[in-house]
Amino acid sequence: MSEASNVQKNISIAFFLNASFTVIEIIGGILTNSVAILSDAMHDLGDTFSLGLSWYAERLAKRKPDSRYTYGYKRYPVMAAMVNAVFLLGASVFVLSIAIPLILNPEPVKATGMIWLAVAGIIFNGAAVLRLSKGNSINQKVVRLHLLEDTLGWMAVLVGAVIIKYTGLMWIDPLLGVMIAVFIIYNAIRNLKDALVIFLQAIPENTEKKDIKTDLLKISGVDSLHDIRSWSIDGVSHVYTLHVVARKEILPEDYPRLKQEIRKRLQASGFEFVTIEIDGSDEHCELENVII
Ligand SMILES: [Zn+2]
Ligand SMILES: [Zn+2]
Repeated sequence: MSEASNVQKNISIAFFLNASFTVIEIIGGILTNSVAILSDAMHDLGDTFSLGLSWYAERLAKRKPDSRYTYGYKRYPVMAAMVNAVFLLGASVFVLSIAIPLILNPEPVKATGMIWLAVAGIIFNGAAVLRLSKGNSINQKVVRLHLLEDTLGWMAVLVGAVIIKYTGLMWIDPLLGVMIAVFIIYNAIRNLKDALVIFLQAIPENTEKKDIKTDLLKISGVDSLHDIRSWSIDGVSHVYTLHVVARKEILPEDYPRLKQEIRKRLQASGFEFVTIEIDGSDEHCELENVII
């Protein structure tokens, strides 16, 4: 089986497991009357949603750019991540509005049921962490870290449920619910920020610190640069457009070599889409004062 179809199969398995576990959590949360479990269920609903989307996105990503979407479909997952973050923010605020008043006025919860659900959560997420422990791609590392956080969350629920069982302190449950919701909000805002930076066409992350301009100016035949624009399509594929003023001794027949060299350097820095305009040394380009 090819690497790509393996990834797809893994995502689809993870999606169905997560979806069924989310259903169990929602039912379990209602039966035990636990806000902590319901808060976690919101989180897993978000996970299920993003797994479903990345499953769909893997298939979409195979589509080539067309005359309508000239960069292809790479921004769809970024948009999906934004929708997911907004959903999680709304859901968490809803959970907070239930959980905060319950801290002051706690309702009885079924601690034994909570313990069983937490044990199931630890086994479920822990098994997924172990399954992914061999993968070394960045994406697999991110997913593993996320699952590890989920496992730790369930451990907190387990500890809380055991304390409730032996002390009867019911306010621990809504307090855990608030903590989980705050954690979800923190992550959702971070994801939203990452996606917004891409939509607002900021310089791609990780490339802003490299001195790309200095590097390009070292190429023989390059006199100066202007009208530089750079942004990212999806956080992985970046765009770079620029004007290059050629030195006096460079003849128009040398332009292809010059362009090739510039394109090579930019692609090595992670820019997939490169557009170069070469201005002759005595040409007065109307954009020559646009220095970015
Ligand atoms: Zn999660
Ligand atoms: Zn120019």
